[in-house]
Amino acid sequence: MGTWKMNHTWIKRRINHLLYLAYPDLCLVCGAALNDTERLVCHECLYRLPKPDFDNPTDNEAARLFFGKLPVEKVACGLKYLKESPVQDLMEALKYRGRKDIGPVLGSFTAAPLLRTGFFNGIDLLVPVPLHPAKQKRRGYNQSEWLAKGVAQTTGLPIDTTSLKRLADNKTQTKKGLFERWQNVETLFDLADPLPFEGKHILLIDDVLTSGSTLEACGKAVLKAKNARISFFTLARA
Ligand SMILES: [Zn+2]
Repeated sequence: MGTWKMNHTWIKRRINHLLYLAYPDLCLVCGAALNDTERLVCHECLYRLPKPDFDNPTDNEAARLFFGKLPVEKVACGLKYLKESPVQDLMEALKYRGRKDIGPVLGSFTAAPLLRTGFFNGIDLLVPVPLHPAKQKRRGYNQSEWLAKGVAQTTGLPIDTTSLKRLADNKTQTKKGLFERWQNVETLFDLADPLPFEGKHILLIDDVLTSGSTLEACGKAVLKAKNARISFFTLARA
């Protein structure tokens, strides 16, 4: 993780956030007025968001996290997660400050270049990584589901939010031992209904890819469905 050298200080970004609440037609990143074709973030700021340095979806440093662990066909990340960058700020707003509306904007923006390279060819279904029901109730929404809405806008692919479920909240794991934690991750997700995934190529969608353990557990659950195949897309790579 690097740092972002720009004049986006913490205070400036918070002021922009407050300004946005009062003036919803201002860019969330730079505070400039948005034109009729822009939503939440101006085009200039969108295109300046840092991107990951890889483009081959079948062999890149993110895909390599899963080599030998489970058969993932393609892995793509839309942005690079840099601390103190607008990416961090937008993702925190999406996740913790109730700004689910950022999900479709960044989801569709980051899916567009992937659509042109054929990344979505052969994908049947978009499946956001589920939150534990109690956590989703606290937050009011699942940020990955709102990202998936944006990916669906760009690709026209359907979203399935009911066939995969989260059995536990992995936040509570930090106090446990290594083996216990590994066991927990292994049983973090399960299929509520395998039928919609049978014979399908599933694209799992999450907000950020860090160690890959969440997507790995999620992918293993999806692969319990007969002849299912999996690929991963995250908004950002940490
Ligand atoms: Zn801007």
